[in-house]
Amino acid sequence: MRPEDILLPTPAGVCCKIGGFHIDPTRPVERALITHAHSDHARAGHGAVLATQETLDLMRLRYGDNFAGTTQAIAYGESLDLGGVTVTFHPAGHVLGSAQIEVAANGLTIVASGDYKNVADPTCAPFELVPCDVFITEATFALPVFRHGNPDAEIAKLLRSVALFPERAHLVGAYSLGKAQRLIALIRRAGYDAPIYLHGAMESITRYYESRGTALGELRLARGAAKPNLAGTITICPPSALNDLWTRRFPDPLAAFASGWMRVRARARQQGVALPLVISDHADWDGLTATIAATGAGEIWVTHGQEDALVHWCGTRGLKARPLDIVGYGDEDEAGAPDNGEAEQ
Ligand SMILES: [Zn+2]
Ligand SMILES: [Zn+2]
Repeated sequence: MRPEDILLPTPAGVCCKIGGFHIDPTRPVERALITHAHSDHARAGHGAVLATQETLDLMRLRYGDNFAGTTQAIAYGESLDLGGVTVTFHPAGHVLGSAQIEVAANGLTIVASGDYKNVADPTCAPFELVPCDVFITEATFALPVFRHGNPDAEIAKLLRSVALFPERAHLVGAYSLGKAQRLIALIRRAGYDAPIYLHGAMESITRYYESRGTALGELRLARGAAKPNLAGTITICPPSALNDLWTRRFPDPLAAFASGWMRVRARARQQGVALPLVISDHADWDGLTATIAATGAGEIWVTHGQEDALVHWCGTRGLKARPLDIVGYGDEDEAGAPDNGEAEQ
């Protein structure tokens, strides 16, 4: 049996014919297994959805109650038989509820990692290494130039700037699902205990993280706060809001942006970001290559992003590798254009 007999890559996502399901399909299908709730992986309109409870809850928050015909929750480490194929979900360390999906049949194991990072994150379960024959990896930051470094050092930069400019409001662009909450948790861990302000688009997901046990300290909505009271404060907002009329409610706003793309200074300048913070929820070059090697997989399938460099690297290591060319990944989180985000609410 070839791996393609178990999971067949198609432009709309990988499909398991024997098991009767797709993983993270980009168009509506009968049965979808979803790795995590970012909108490029988790779309509304599937007949049945199997995912972690957190992913299902986050999809419901974003798309409403009728986002799928039926839903089924699966815990990390739990296995399910689907038409003779065994599927098991494992933590991916990317955002709350994110999972790698292990698919095993006829003695062959394929792991679809979704998006992942192999560094600690106080807001989600740590990445678990799953030995496999075929590893499907993302490639968002798959160029040697991308080394994310220590997120605590980036937070220290932010807090130094806040201390240096007590008359200014610091606006930190961050993706609404995952990055925003991780950023707040990291700021708290650094000892900052003043209220942190939120853009309205962040509110429901952030409250959901709190309801799942992530302590984020005192949070307030920027909406309704008096302008002078926002001097010296930190507000977390979608990246798109940084260049929006919305910023006028803040005294002398200073724009920061937390993303792996901030390693490329030209991107920061282009977007008018005064304070780039290199903090990513995706593995960097070292993380990707170390993880690929550690899985022991002899064959690597590469999705969304900089496939070429990673495919080439695999070749130099004697690993069989191919890009998957799935259309539609990378439209929401960091994998997408760095200036996207949600509309103001
Ligand atoms: Zn993602
Ligand atoms: Zn992705």
